Amino acid sequence: MNKKIAVIGSGFSSLAAASYLAKDGAEVHVFEKNDSIGGRARQFKAEGFTFDMGPSWYWMPDVFERFFNDFGKSASDYYQLDKLDPAYSVYFGKDDYITIGDSLEKIYKVFDEKEKDGAQKLKKFIDEARDNYDIAIKDLVYKPGLSPLELVTPKTIKKLGQFFGNISNDVDKEFENEQLRQILKFPVLFLGAKPSATPSFYNFMNFADFGLGTWHPKGGFFQVISAMESLAKSLGVTLQTNANIEEILVENAKAVGISVNGEQHKFDVVLSGADYHHTETLLPQTYRQYSEEYWKKKVFAPSSLLFYLGINGKIEGLNHHNLFFDTDFEQHAKEIYTDPKWPTAPLFYANFTSKTDSNTAPEGMENAFFLVPLAPGLEDTDELREEYYEKIMERFNEITGINIKDKVIFKRSFCVNDFVNDYNSYKGNAYGMANTLLQTAFLRPKLKSKKLKNMYFTGQLSVPGPGVPPSLISGKLVSQLIQKN
Ligand SMILES: Cc1cc2nc3c(=O)[nH]c(=O)nc-3n(C[C@H](O)[C@H](O)[C@H](O)COP(=O)(O)OP(=O)(O)OC[C@H]3O[C@@H](n4cnc5c(N)ncnc54)[C@H](O)[C@@H]3O)c2cc1C
Repeated sequence: MNKKIAVIGSGFSSLAAASYLAKDGAEVHVFEKNDSIGGRARQFKAEGFTFDMGPSWYWMPDVFERFFNDFGKSASDYYQLDKLDPAYSVYFGKDDYITIGDSLEKIYKVFDEKEKDGAQKLKKFIDEARDNYDIAIKDLVYKPGLSPLELVTPKTIKKLGQFFGNISNDVDKEFENEQLRQILKFPVLFLGAKPSATPSFYNFMNFADFGLGTWHPKGGFFQVISAMESLAKSLGVTLQTNANIEEILVENAKAVGISVNGEQHKFDVVLSGADYHHTETLLPQTYRQYSEEYWKKKVFAPSSLLFYLGINGKIEGLNHHNLFFDTDFEQHAKEIYTDPKWPTAPLFYANFTSKTDSNTAPEGMENAFFLVPLAPGLEDTDELREEYYEKIMERFNEITGINIKDKVIFKRSFCVNDFVNDYNSYKGNAYGMANTLLQTAFLRPKLKSKKLKNMYFTGQLSVPGPGVPPSLISGKLVSQLIQKN
């Protein structure tokens, strides 16, 4: 392909698309507004600690592998991948937690201990989830979302009912133990909506969780970004940081270039991996496809309050990934989706990468990352952040008996305002637009502009949806559309 292409943003979707396009012969230039690449998956280092700023759960290793295979490579050419055992722990109260191991056999055992016929019920549930994973990965997610017909295959027709049921009902019907129910509803939170708004078919995330396992790229998630940077550069892609795109240039209903840091540059194609809503604001009003009303009505994935902490000392008894589900899941979900406000009693996630990866903290210390999901668009002040810091530190102490607050020697917070300022994120969403029934596949914002020639979009607000694996797939899909044009 003999085209000069501008790619806005350097998140997973942009980097993936850039490599596919360069491989096909295009001259590709990536422009990133921030001073480092990776988008939501940026990394920062401070006082000897290394922090991934966003993703930490490496799920669906097959999707990453397939990406690198497309270039005659393997993930192992770039980074070492370790399967975590245990995968994670879920806390329900003091001395009350469930640990998920690295194999289905281990997990069946836990289910049997917690519920009569638990293993048998889980086996049935996971068989269905595996089947759906197979269909989703082979038949559905690699489709560009151009038409509803993409979803119609002999296999999906048989599953039609599963697009109208929801995960929450399915889990509650099959399992009685409240803790097991919550663990089974956890994976679909990655899709951005609450389990009662997520179609049953998406139980393939349960297979991703229990069946495929939780992995860790040695050195941190940013190793994947570095791998993609090496790959892109080896294919001739140029990457420019501190390059803020202020405008997409249009002539005769065609995207013809970009304005970056006050300078105009001509391109044959413009592809944006920045948040879709923001990208449209870079276009003249008449060429925007979706109104403010449209965006307002959409279900967005939560925003987050994050704390990156350097801990002086080792933390015993916890795992790499720890979920604190000791408060009311439904109440918190309501405060994210139905009645947006700062949560009364937040569920939270605590990550200690250094538990399994000593490279990420100085010797004898741990790096920690706490995450509280929040409704997008909430008021964000230093006082609110601090109030919630105190809340979660106290809860962490009560439940685990570990007082880490006194050992904190480095602390940085990140919240709604940072998502807006750093990523031009709509309402400060952390991971895009949710996958609900009405926001699936062809019902999502389009990869190819309907109004403007040579203008394309990719990333977590588009097809197929939020998360790192879908962002890689999104980059592939959009590059195929550009190649076809
Ligand atoms: C806290 C957090 C935890 C997460 N955890 C996980 C996880 O464990 N597992 C998982 O799979 N996923 C996780 N995700 C989701 C995952 O990180 C995202 O889905 C994915 O990284 C999105 O990639 P993207 O390419 O769509 O967008 P982004 O990464 O947002 O990239 C868009 C880029 O565009 C740039 N940009 C914006 N405007 C402009 C402009 N005008 N000019 C130039 N550049 C611009 C931005 O700076 C950004 O770098 C998490 C996300 C967050 C925030």
